[in-house]
Amino acid sequence: MFRTIRAHIAIPYIVLILAATVVLTIYSSNVAQDSYLADLESQLSAEARLVSESTSLLPTESAPADGIDALVKRLGQLLQARVTVIDPDGVVVGDSEEDPAKMENHRDRPEVQVALAGNQGSSTRYSRTLGYPMMYVAIPVRTSDGQVIGVARVALPLTQIEERVTRLRYTIAGATLLTALLAGLLAVFIAEQITKPVRKLTDLAEQMARGNLAGRIHTSSRDEVGRLGKAFNQMADEVQAQIEAMDAQRNMLTAVLAHMADGVLITDAEGHVRLLNPAAARLLGVDQEAAVGERFVALVRDHQITGIWRRCREINEELGETVEMGRQRPFLRVVATPLSDTAEGECLVLLQDLTEMRRLETVRRDFVSNISHELRTPLAGLKAVVDTLRDGALEDPAAARRFLDRIDTEVDVLTQMVRELLELSRIESGQVPLRLAPTAVADLVIPPVDRLQPQAERSGLSMAVNLPSAGEEPGLPFVLADAERVMEVVTNLVHNAIKFTPAGGQVTILADVAGEEVIVSVQDTGIGIPADDLPRIFERFYKADRARSGGGTGLGLSIARHIVQGHGGRIWAESVEGKGSTFYFSLPVATRAAANP
Ligand code: ADP
Repeated sequence: MFRTIRAHIAIPYIVLILAATVVLTIYSSNVAQDSYLADLESQLSAEARLVSESTSLLPTESAPADGIDALVKRLGQLLQARVTVIDPDGVVVGDSEEDPAKMENHRDRPEVQVALAGNQGSSTRYSRTLGYPMMYVAIPVRTSDGQVIGVARVALPLTQIEERVTRLRYTIAGATLLTALLAGLLAVFIAEQITKPVRKLTDLAEQMARGNLAGRIHTSSRDEVGRLGKAFNQMADEVQAQIEAMDAQRNMLTAVLAHMADGVLITDAEGHVRLLNPAAARLLGVDQEAAVGERFVALVRDHQITGIWRRCREINEELGETVEMGRQRPFLRVVATPLSDTAEGECLVLLQDLTEMRRLETVRRDFVSNISHELRTPLAGLKAVVDTLRDGALEDPAAARRFLDRIDTEVDVLTQMVRELLELSRIESGQVPLRLAPTAVADLVIPPVDRLQPQAERSGLSMAVNLPSAGEEPGLPFVLADAERVMEVVTNLVHNAIKFTPAGGQVTILADVAGEEVIVSVQDTGIGIPADDLPRIFERFYKADRARSGGGTGLGLSIARHIVQGHGGRIWAESVEGKGSTFYFSLPVATRAAANP
């Protein structure tokens, strides 16, 4: 209770009011008591004077003591007070309440002593005769010549005054207590009014601390608390705006990190992972959520990467190296950077995936080596023939003719290779524009198959085309194609199927519609393609089986891929080694408007 501002304000007020009440009650009752006693004293004084006058008229000789006592008793009744008359020796000669003969000498009473000395004496004390407190006032009884011949004393009990004073005290105390209570309530009310907005502010601040920033205080007052409320609202607006800006920035950074191709990973001073983006999780082959909080060394488990990270933390400098994580794993460039000069041990690790770049590099190297190899074979043949002719075969016309035919064949091979290379390079650089027109699939498939039919028969293969005929429902829609180019693709695929299928095999050409595409496939029961070679057969000069590919250039599938992609289609192959291969390519269906020009 004492911890609240309300108590701090109200309690001192209440204590102050109570103290004032007590002091006021004591002081005012004392003043009243003094005033009552003064009044009583002057009343008793007047009455004593009356008694003195009455008794001094009686000459001592003519009035016996019992005559005085009777008078005193009579005066006592009249005055409703205790009246006593005492002679100069202190002997009581008359008393309104008691028998004077039984009373002790009164000379030692203080008021009697003063009166005997000629003055008015008064005293307030406990009456042993009557058994309660009394006020006594005594005055001297004088003769006409002024001689003191006794003392007239009048007394009244103080119980009445004490009762009145007590009653007065209760009245004052009651009134002031009531006032104190009202004042206390008022103090509590005022304190409540002052502290209400403060308590509201405290509630709001606690809500803000828990993350709820929407609360505001409504205040119209211009006092200190009102200004505090306004300042609080301004602060809340500011904090909310800043937090929203920070949220937006964080979301932006999160989006950037999430969509980055490079892996980003941050470790703290203890070497635990504090952040990693999806790319980093993918490249390291770990679960993104589970990885946060893990030890970097336990998570990465690649001694090259952990080595770079460790050295970067030791020397506090940026380090970068390329790392090969294994045959099937990515080839990475790893850059480790100390996060900041201040945050000791915190480190940013960037993982750049160079696998694709390295693959392209390998393709380029293979291309150069393949083209050299392909050119060398016919050139070596030519050289050998020329040498043989020069060494004397020229003299033998029949042999010379045979050798000339060989030269012709080798030149044809070279010419074919150069023609295909040129065509490939023209297609690749976009110099061969496609003349697209809605075309029936049969018109693209049947002519090349018919042309290659004799070759298939020579190789002992049966060849079949199986297309949903135009009469059938749903039938094949027209495709948007440059017929000459697509026939080149079909020729290449069927030619390969014949070339790589031993006698007795089967080559089947199928076509079907799939959504907005028509998919053509060439299926054979030939030697198949090893799984390792399958992803690479569409590269230039790539040959899976050099021994059997014979005079092939290794450029056919590469050209086919470019032509199909130029049509907006895809080309791919499936194969089981020893069982056969299927090559697929897709072409977009011609829209109705285009199909019926
Ligand atoms: P090539 O002139 O050698 O036929 P291609 O580009 O047409 O060149 O083919 C590349 C390689 O793909 C071939 O050398 C062969 O190893 C493989 N290949 C293509 N088609 C088939 C197939 N139907 N069956 C088995 N291997 C094939």
